[in-house]
Amino acid sequence: MTSVTHTPLQGATGPGGHTPQRLHAAHAWVEGRWQAEVLLETTPDGSWGAVTPGVKTPPADAQRLPGPVLPGLVNAHSHAFQRAFAGLAERREGTHDDFWSWRDRMYGVALRITPDELQAVATTLYREMRAGGYTHVCEFHYLHHAPDGTPYPDRGAMARALARAAQQAGIGLTLLPVLYERAGFTQPQLRADQRRFATTVDQVISMRDEIRSWRMSGVDAGVAVHSLRAARGESIAALAQRCADDPGPVHVHIAEQTGEVEDCLAATGQRPIEWLCANVPLDARWHLVHATHATPAEIEAVARTGAGVVVCPTTEANLGDGLFDLPRWLAAGVPLSIGSDSHVSRQWPRELQLLEYGQRLVQRRRNVAAAPESGEPSTAQRLFQAMLQGGAAAAGRRKVGLVPGALADFLVMDTTVDALAGVPRENLLDALVFATDVPAFAQTWVSGVRYTP
Ligand SMILES: [Zn+2]
Repeated sequence: MTSVTHTPLQGATGPGGHTPQRLHAAHAWVEGRWQAEVLLETTPDGSWGAVTPGVKTPPADAQRLPGPVLPGLVNAHSHAFQRAFAGLAERREGTHDDFWSWRDRMYGVALRITPDELQAVATTLYREMRAGGYTHVCEFHYLHHAPDGTPYPDRGAMARALARAAQQAGIGLTLLPVLYERAGFTQPQLRADQRRFATTVDQVISMRDEIRSWRMSGVDAGVAVHSLRAARGESIAALAQRCADDPGPVHVHIAEQTGEVEDCLAATGQRPIEWLCANVPLDARWHLVHATHATPAEIEAVARTGAGVVVCPTTEANLGDGLFDLPRWLAAGVPLSIGSDSHVSRQWPRELQLLEYGQRLVQRRRNVAAAPESGEPSTAQRLFQAMLQGGAAAAGRRKVGLVPGALADFLVMDTTVDALAGVPRENLLDALVFATDVPAFAQTWVSGVRYTP
């Protein structure tokens, strides 16, 4: 992996310890559209104090930002350790290769990596993510124990490695300790090569509380269920019940693979999303990761709960999962967010591009995600705004974007790159997603602290 220099240039770290900033942008994405001459003011806690469009003559002390300003996106699904494996599984040695054979090889990495190695891999990864336009990441964390399966003396050693990496890299983090109990619907024990993952409901809750007790700046926690195949129904219900009054997000892998759908049908008589909607009191804190194989009835059932869906286009393509039914999920109004999952890409523009291109290839149409009938003719603008809002929900945030009270997490586009030079404002996001091959952010800001690139 190459590592680039990402140096915080301004501001201090820690709640209440930031240097308030007055910034001015010729163009900024405010309330779902481009607005001109925007004065942006941060507070000592790294949030937005005031955001005022139409300020043609900014105060003398306001710093002029060198390009159009976008809010940063949340990367809603990450397994940081898998970054060490990206690019190393693109050789087929036998007659068949699929998700399950990839998983066996991925476990080889999972069984070896130490807390120090995880911190090193995650620090590099999180820097790459920030350079790629993500200012926050949700870490679906199931690699808990020592390689022989015994708990570390500090049970939170691996989680702490991730939290330290996020702080070193300058990215916000929602850590989601994962409930992982069994190898499959009919396999009540874990496989030997899953021994680092074992958790109970009590342990997941106590890990969440421990992470919060660290009070590390920029780090928060929710919980996750690995999948229906990896956790018993009664345990999922118990975890949901224990979290009923907690504001933190709850994530779950679901319906990524047809094999998982078939196994769930055989074990329960229901498809995975159907089972989840029928047996767990879902709400807006819940985020279903992948949801690749969903019927129209399942999509409507999720929409009625307020839960969101995390789509991971480059990983889903890489693993041969199947194609997400983007038009139907968008039409149902389900909050959507983007995850980089196995990290074959660390840039959200690539994820949005592939999300749309998958639809174009099978439908033989263009601009499938655009919605001119509701005033959204730009494909990238519609997808970006959807992922901005859905990503915030996946991270457990109430406020999002360039609005007072939201974290001052944003990107300054580099319009000096050839692909963006001279592009009209209304086409900038489309050009970034569909016609730009290199990261095109001149600056990234996280909680009011500036990094470059
Ligand atoms: Zn995943």
